[in-house]
Order: sequence, then structure tokens, then C-alpha cells
Amino acid sequence: MLKYHDFIHAFREIGLTGKNRVIIHASMNTLGEIAGGIDTILGALLANCETLITPTFTSRPMIVPQTGPPNNALSYGEYDKQNQLAEFFHPDMPVDPEMGPFAEAFYKHPDAHRTTHPLLSLAGINADDALAMQSLETPFAPIRWLADSDGDVLLLGDTHVSNISLHYAEKLAGQKQFIRWALTPRGAVVCPSYPGCSLGFPAIETHLSGVARHAQLNTSIIELIPLRDLIHITVGRLRAAPETMLCNRPGCPYCDAVRSTLS
Ligand SMILES: [Zn+2]
Repeated sequence: MLKYHDFIHAFREIGLTGKNRVIIHASMNTLGEIAGGIDTILGALLANCETLITPTFTSRPMIVPQTGPPNNALSYGEYDKQNQLAEFFHPDMPVDPEMGPFAEAFYKHPDAHRTTHPLLSLAGINADDALAMQSLETPFAPIRWLADSDGDVLLLGDTHVSNISLHYAEKLAGQKQFIRWALTPRGAVVCPSYPGCSLGFPAIETHLSGVARHAQLNTSIIELIPLRDLIHITVGRLRAAPETMLCNRPGCPYCDAVRSTLS
């Protein structure tokens, strides 16, 4: 069973000094049993970092119109049932199940603030300047703030499939973005720069060997990657080989839509 001091030791091993600004992706399934649960991880993070951010995405407010732009990874007209269930975003809205229990616990921390993007909200502790950068049009602007502030990505037993900073790199590299819509008290709003599929993101791992730092945490690996390096390397890879991070799942609507713009 992992204990508080195991996290402290591993965080110091990868170079967290207490001043770091990090975006965290944690897989509780991979980390296994922890004495004190998620509070133990959060306590160790707060002891070793200045600024913490994690994604708290939710699709509950999403609605799909009857028609819309083509090549948008959507079958318009097939979402009547989902549209009827759509709810206005509120700060206590649960994260999507695939975001995992860490994200669900994180935004409930007494010191956490959550942005109000109806689909792509982020939660942060001591992160108000970064979170303030997000708008409907710029959902990943807090990633840019973190990169400009010498921030890092911290993977806690998680993989690059969860690494939303790679979506920001895709946008910088000019890769196709998607459009979604959300129900709000002002009516339906357009949410541009919606990200595609991340199943192919682990392909970037081999290109990060010079910049990523790893530590073993029981049977899990934790990894710290400087955001500026991650973005620079990923944009370079995507410009040289735009299909590099697309998945191989047959019929993946997102990756097929991106491929169609490359040929
Ligand atoms: Zn895909």
C-alpha cells in the first residue's frame, strides 16, 4: 500500500522542488491502494508544488444540432435523446467517468477553483492566473500559461492518452480541430477548438527520452515532462509526420476526419 512518504520521495526524485507549476493526470487504478486515498496524493502534491491544475471535462451540457459543418466527427440528427438530457454546466457537475476519480476529488478540494467552460473545464489550486486564460474560444490557453511559466506535465501512473497538453500542441501544429455545442442559460453556444482522439498519443513517448524524468512508485511509473519541451517536440513531430499521434482504431471518426485533411 502506498503511503504519503512514498509520494514525497518519488516527487523529489523526479525534481519537484515546491515551486513547480504542474498539470496532473492521475490513474487511481494503476496506482492501486493508497493509505488515506486521494487526499494523500493531494497533500503530497501541495507540499511539493506551487500550482496544480487538472482537467475536469464533462459532456453533460453537450448538444448536437440537426445540421452543422461537415467533417466534424459527428452524425448530425442522431442526438435527440442526448439533447433532451443536456444540463447547464455548474461548478459541482460531475466529471465524465473517463476523467477518473482523481479529477472528481480534485475540484472538490476546499482550495480548488474550477473554470466555467461548459465542456472543457479545468480545476486548479493556486492557479487562478492560469485558469483565467481559458475562454470558449481558447479552451487550452491555461496550458500555454503553464508552458510560459516553466510548468510541467505530471503523469501519476497515467499515460499520454490523458495528456491534454498534447491537444494544445496539435492545435499549434495546425492539426484539424472540431466544433461542439453546449447548452447554457444563454442558449446553445459554439465551443470551437474541441479536441480529437487521444488514443494514439503514447506514440510521443519515445521522443521524450531526453526531457522526461521518471520515478518508480511501487508498481507504477510517475513521469514529469517540462511543458515547453513537450510542446516543442510534439509540434515538430506533427509537422514532420502529421499522422504520428492518430489512433489505429477502425472507423475512429476523429482520426479519420484528421486523416482526410492530410491527403
Ligand atoms: Zn482515434
